[in-house]
Amino acid sequence: MAGSGLIAGPFRGVVRRATRMVEQRGFIEWQNVWVYDYVIVGGGSAGCALANRLSADPSHEVLLIEAGRRDWKWDVFIHMPAALAFPIGSRFYDWKYESEPEPHMGGRRVYHARGKVLGGSSSINGMIFQRGNPMDYDKWGAMPGLENWDWRHCLPYFKRMETTLAGQDPSQDGLRGEDGPLTLERGPAKNPLFDAWLRAGVEAGFNRTDDVNGHRQEGFAPFDKNVSRGRRLSAARAYLHPVLDRPNLTLMTRAQVDEVLFDDPNDSTRATGVSVRKLGLAGRFGRKPAEKVAAREVVLCGGAFNSPQLLQLSGVGDREHLESLGIPVVAHVPGVGENLQDHLEVYIQYESKQPVSIQPHLAHWKKPWIGLQWLFRRGPGSSNHFEAGAFVKSNPSESYPNLMFHFLPIAIRYDGSSPGRPDGSGAKIEHGYQVHVGPMYSDARGTVKITSRDPKQHPAVLFNYLSTEQDRREWIEAVRTARTILTQPAFDEFNAGEISPGPSVETDQEIMDWVAKDSETALHPSCTTRIGAQDDPMSVLDPETMKVWGTEGLRVVDAGCMPNVSNGNTYAPTMMIAEKAADLILGVAPLPPDDTPVYRSDVVGGGRR
Ligand SMILES: Cc1cc2nc3c(=O)[nH]c(=O)nc-3n(C[C@H](O)[C@H](O)[C@H](O)COP(=O)(O)OP(=O)(O)OC[C@H]3O[C@@H](n4cnc5c(N)ncnc54)[C@H](O)[C@@H]3O)c2cc1C
Repeated sequence: MAGSGLIAGPFRGVVRRATRMVEQRGFIEWQNVWVYDYVIVGGGSAGCALANRLSADPSHEVLLIEAGRRDWKWDVFIHMPAALAFPIGSRFYDWKYESEPEPHMGGRRVYHARGKVLGGSSSINGMIFQRGNPMDYDKWGAMPGLENWDWRHCLPYFKRMETTLAGQDPSQDGLRGEDGPLTLERGPAKNPLFDAWLRAGVEAGFNRTDDVNGHRQEGFAPFDKNVSRGRRLSAARAYLHPVLDRPNLTLMTRAQVDEVLFDDPNDSTRATGVSVRKLGLAGRFGRKPAEKVAAREVVLCGGAFNSPQLLQLSGVGDREHLESLGIPVVAHVPGVGENLQDHLEVYIQYESKQPVSIQPHLAHWKKPWIGLQWLFRRGPGSSNHFEAGAFVKSNPSESYPNLMFHFLPIAIRYDGSSPGRPDGSGAKIEHGYQVHVGPMYSDARGTVKITSRDPKQHPAVLFNYLSTEQDRREWIEAVRTARTILTQPAFDEFNAGEISPGPSVETDQEIMDWVAKDSETALHPSCTTRIGAQDDPMSVLDPETMKVWGTEGLRVVDAGCMPNVSNGNTYAPTMMIAEKAADLILGVAPLPPDDTPVYRSDVVGGGRR
């Protein structure tokens, strides 16, 4: 069949599939090439979920293109939960972003890991599962055009994706899912330091809650995790691997899309496919030229940095910005790459008097034993160790929790380094513990902007962390609240002194200086291609279809779609968006809204709705 040369070379699997497709589906007349119904760009968290849902109908030909490599079964750094720090900073797993010099952090660049492997960031993340607060979604729903994105409309999709093993009652008042692809384990939070954490919260005047993802988010509780039977349950493992044998689903890995094509002579705003480059083993561009793949629909699932980058490279973005780089404008959508949000966090670390922390597991000589135990899905290798935490208000005037805490029975940074003793001797502490804390609703906003037409070059990412009055106030409250909890009587038997920030950081100014110097990202970049009403100049996507305004056949589904970041980690909301988007794309009736009551602290009396 004429046109086959356009899909050749390295993409043998595609050619095979295309040969079959051509018999079934014909080809685009004017272009004379074969065409997929859906080309999904990015086999990450949202991309894997969409690949599953869109290919469930065998009449849809779906191609999933992922820049990273496969998440091979033998890859212990992906699948062993406790190995979560290893992929970060490695080009075999990580896109290795860095922010622009942050003006309110002394010009520091903040490192941002992003998954570059099948499963995307869900293959390298901390596996903490947080839906966010129902009031997050009601805030979304109150925005013009987003009536169908309030909590009642999102809850059914959270339930559809979950199998909640945690808690005594799996049905959790009808608020949790029971047979979705994401199996969620909890705890066991057996270390005595977790017990101290949960008791200290109550001593400090906060409440316990049964399930932060259930009726009441606010309070202290064990946390759910994306771990199943001692292995990471990434989006790839949960959604993609079980359906990879579908004949209508093709997976292409180590292939980077560098442009969305708009070459329909009859409609210059219609996406007709993508241009793809095969990458080398180390994830770099090879010498082979880009290949064209034709699609009726292109769905970008590249995440909050890569999707706006790809849109801008393809001529969709702010006219002035694109023209300054000599990129022909397909659609003037000024919100592309704007509204960037994230969570920043600090570690507040203590030395432990008692030898109860999991610090000794860091010893190199113990690793073979931990690995061996993990082969039988036992031992410290089979947990992410983020087994408990809390959601609290930093002051009583907040309408719902604005601080999230993760408690760890170890003092360690994300890069795996442990702190030195506070006496300045340079010796490493033997036992410690820490909380991660940071404000959840910073009103700082940043941007993702390409600075060249070269798809190999990362876009410039600027967060403007700590740039607002609200941000600074909440940071001071966050650090003070953490210290209040960690110095409650429940910790007396463990507390051998604060290591970080340490007693020299006391005044508001000292706290802010330390936060600017020591904080790290909680790795939740989002909101750069947000849904919103068409007359909102910063809206990028139609909330009823996920289509990019001003274009045809082009949609975005990933963490960038959120209008505002959720109160908690961002994986679960991203997966909920993917589940809901699948129905919107397929045009099937959405799941009916769910009115199961939830706790709302802004309602007088503490309120059930
Ligand atoms: C280290 C780390 C720890 C985290 N910890 C947690 C946690 O514990 N809990 C939590 O809820 N959230 C956590 N997060 C955040 C969460 O994982 C993300 O918000 C979520 O996974 C984002 O999903 P996504 O689909 O938007 O993007 P991703 O999952 O990142 O997927 C994007 C995919 O697109 C691919 N891609 C990008 N551009 C192209 C292109 N041009 N061509 C082809 N493929 C492309 C990428 O390689 C990637 O696979 C963490 C994130 C990181 C990085």
